[in-house]
Amino acid sequence: MAMNVGKRLAAGANMPAPSEDVLTNTQDVVQNALHKLGYSETVYELLKEPIRVLTVRIPVRMDDGHTEVFTGYRAQHNDAVGPTKGGIRFHPNVTLEEVKALSIWMSIKCGIFNLPYGGAKGGIICDPRTMSIAEQERLARGYVRAVSQIVGPTKDIPAPDVYTNPQIMAWMYDEYSRIREYDSPGFITGKPLVLGGSQGRDKATALGVVVAMQEGAATLGKNLQDLKVIVQGFGNVGSNVALILHEMGVKVVGISDAGGALYREEGLDIPSLLEKRDSFGMVTTNFSHTITNQELLVQPCDVLVPAALENQITAENANQIQASLVVEAANGPTTHAADEILSERGILIVPDVLANAGGVTVSYFEWVQNSQGYYWTEEEVNHRMREMMVASAQTIFKTAKRYQVSTRLAAYMVGIKPFAEAMRWRGWV
Ligand code: GLU
Repeated sequence: MAMNVGKRLAAGANMPAPSEDVLTNTQDVVQNALHKLGYSETVYELLKEPIRVLTVRIPVRMDDGHTEVFTGYRAQHNDAVGPTKGGIRFHPNVTLEEVKALSIWMSIKCGIFNLPYGGAKGGIICDPRTMSIAEQERLARGYVRAVSQIVGPTKDIPAPDVYTNPQIMAWMYDEYSRIREYDSPGFITGKPLVLGGSQGRDKATALGVVVAMQEGAATLGKNLQDLKVIVQGFGNVGSNVALILHEMGVKVVGISDAGGALYREEGLDIPSLLEKRDSFGMVTTNFSHTITNQELLVQPCDVLVPAALENQITAENANQIQASLVVEAANGPTTHAADEILSERGILIVPDVLANAGGVTVSYFEWVQNSQGYYWTEEEVNHRMREMMVASAQTIFKTAKRYQVSTRLAAYMVGIKPFAEAMRWRGWV
């Protein structure tokens, strides 16, 4: 199991750091959504920032004996609907602003899927690729000790995110159960199956992305089977999206990892690429004819799936993108300026808060199963998630049409409404 730590490391670490102010952009969309729905400025005042943010310093004894001090964050956006929920990211470029924005995005996802949660997000500034397994374990446990007062199965439930995986969830679960002195599987999701993980959680985000892609293609009057797809990023989400598409007989013409990208017009053999992945999830190192991540985004295709980090589609490349459908598997891959350019060009965007919410939806199923102590089959998990994704996608496409707004604004309108309503019922606003 411990070997998986390296294997799951997603593509993306060497991609450009977030350059746009993701928090301000997110706040703008939240404000627009609330405005369209007719809510007051007070509602926005409460929703524009997380209700609670904790910054922690985590001392970790490194293998060579010296102690390194890491900075970590946990942001809880809003708990009017229920406990907060969201992943923990290990990445050198983590910032407080990014974690705050990510917590707001989690709220929107939960709202769209009617999950009984508000959004949260955690992050630790670190580069797991330079750390041993034992150092990663000590860091994961140290983070849980540092935030233990504000998390818990009915308070705030973490999960995996960029560069974190079931092994890290297992250490965190173990640490939390030790602190509380009782077994507490509902504290965290994305756990290994044997520790109360859910069937299907591993591939849930990717499967949801593919279902959202089918809905997007149908809206354009196209059949996914006939389309060519580029997937940027070969981490848990990107590689599984590529694999699921390949198994469906859909042509994946481009993929990338942190080191570069491959593009083959005739389609790539995804299973063989997966076999070639090294312990850090890198595959392009095996090839001499590679292009850059930025070059990949503008190659010919019908569907572009950014599945790496924020701010990949920017004002610089949005005009050259050849896809007619962009399905955002990553969180925040499109900058605000690029968003406008793509819309003007008539390119349909399936926004991140819809497209990648299959992950948190199956996390919710995991939490439900943990509290029942009764576990579902993979078919049941996938079936329920698929139904919720199709219904949510249709609601958002309809909302966009009805209000004559972008799919992103429509998604925020649908996703923010439960929070505004719950706060009103509770008498907060
Ligand atoms: N980190 C994932 C996300 O951004 C999953 C969160 C969860 O499962 O709670 O949606």
